[in-house]
Order: sequence, then structure tokens, then C-alpha cells
Amino acid sequence: MRAGLAPAAVGSVITAVSVFDERALTRHAAGAADFVSRLEGRTFTGASRRGKFLWLPLDSPESALIAHLGMSGQMLLRAPDAGPERHERVRIGLEHPTHGELAIVFADQRTFGSLAVDSLVMDGPTEIPAQVRHIARDPLDPLFDDAGFRAALAHRASAIKRVLLDQGVVSGIGNIYADESLWASRIHPESPANLLSTRAVHRLLAEVRSVLAKALAEGGTSFDAQYVNVNGQAGYFAHSLNAYGRGGEPCPRCGGPIRREAFMNRSSHYCPRCQRRLR
Ligand SMILES: [Zn+2]
Repeated sequence: MRAGLAPAAVGSVITAVSVFDERALTRHAAGAADFVSRLEGRTFTGASRRGKFLWLPLDSPESALIAHLGMSGQMLLRAPDAGPERHERVRIGLEHPTHGELAIVFADQRTFGSLAVDSLVMDGPTEIPAQVRHIARDPLDPLFDDAGFRAALAHRASAIKRVLLDQGVVSGIGNIYADESLWASRIHPESPANLLSTRAVHRLLAEVRSVLAKALAEGGTSFDAQYVNVNGQAGYFAHSLNAYGRGGEPCPRCGGPIRREAFMNRSSHYCPRCQRRLR
């Protein structure tokens, strides 16, 4: 979504903002009128993301339009005169110096997502929105700290999968990508993080990066029509899954059955033969 928005948004002037449903602004405490006044007339200068947050920095003052997509939020690029989208909550009209007029439509069926204008704060050498400060960098971020990640694991006796899902340690890894990365690196999801060898942690990080890069190239994992790019198209990484959602099917590596187990209100999928639990 970030990659799709960037060419259209960066350099664009915000010409008009329409808020059709204030539930889309739960993260903007000052309300719709304030939200609109902080955007109209400004220019987007970039497009960034971290974890489930996406943000477009503004030329002035030090702030950004941020979007948290919740369960079903979508950022769609549309022609300026396009008719209303299903579940449309906010429309942002743009004037791009070369592409002309465009609209970003924020649509959200379940309304757990939200937009906001947020101030920027320093996070090491980079600026991030204040609401994103508690989210750790993801492993594809050039400034991700591999040694710091190893140290964080060494101090945690909880299951490695639980640590992978902890946004304060590492972001960008949800349930699906955790299962896929653990399967690829032959690590049992319940193995205590502090029992993993340095080699195993290196292997895990390499597989996380490989899984995330491949999923990004394929537009993400869509099991229904809600996870879409800026053109409304679903990703197709679901066809590349080796463990997730494959309970009872043969492991693509050893042929033994993939096991599905309850895990933190969700499920873990792993191969008990390839992924031995450390104790
Ligand atoms: Zn196996």
C-alpha cells in the first residue's frame, strides 16, 4: 500500500478533505474540523510505514498524515470524480505536479482503522509520528539492529513465536509470517527464545526477511477481499504458504503432517518433525 501511494502522494498538494464518518478519526482526538484544517493546502513529502502504521509526512509544520488500517482499512487511489466507494470514510483530494488531480479514499468496513494528523518525533536518526514511537523497526528496515534483536531474545524465556509477535521487539511479523518464518528456519514456535543459538537466530532473521520480501513482492496475503493494494487488488502470497493454514497437509520439506495448535486466541502451524521443540 505504501509503495502504491508513494508515486501519487509525494509532491502532491492537498486540495480538499471530506470526512464522511468520524469513526475514521478515533486517533485524531481534536475532531474532524481540526483534521481537515491541518491537511488542506499542505504538501505530502514522503511515504513511510512501520508495523501496521502508514504515514505521509507534510511540508509544514513537523507533522504527518498517519493511517492505522485496523482489521479492514484500505487506502485507495481514485480519479477525483470517482463515485463513492463502499465503506468510504474519508476522501482526500490531491493535485500532483505531473499526474494532475487524484483522490485518496480511506475505506474501512469494520471501522477499527483510523486516520490522524500527528506530530513527528526523533527515533534515532529518523523522524516518526508520536503514535508510532512504541513500535520497533521491522527486519526490512535498513536501521534494524540485528545484535539488539539477539540480545532481546537472550533475555526472554517466553515462546519464540510470542516474541516475534511483540511489536515492541520487532514489527511487521503477524501470525502468518511468524509461522512461515519459523517453519523455514526449522524452529518450533514454542521453543523458549533464550534457548535459541546465535546461528538459529541468524537463520530466523534471514528467513523472516526472505518471507517478508516475497510476500511484499506478491502484494501480501489475502484470504478475503479486504486486504488490497491502492487499486483494490488482493495479494496472492496465500498460494506460497508452506505451513500457515495447512494443518493436516504434508510438510513440503519432509512429507509429515503439519500440525495446527491453539496459540494466543489464534493458531500455530508447524511441522513437529522438522521443528523440534527446545527445552
Ligand atoms: Zn517437515
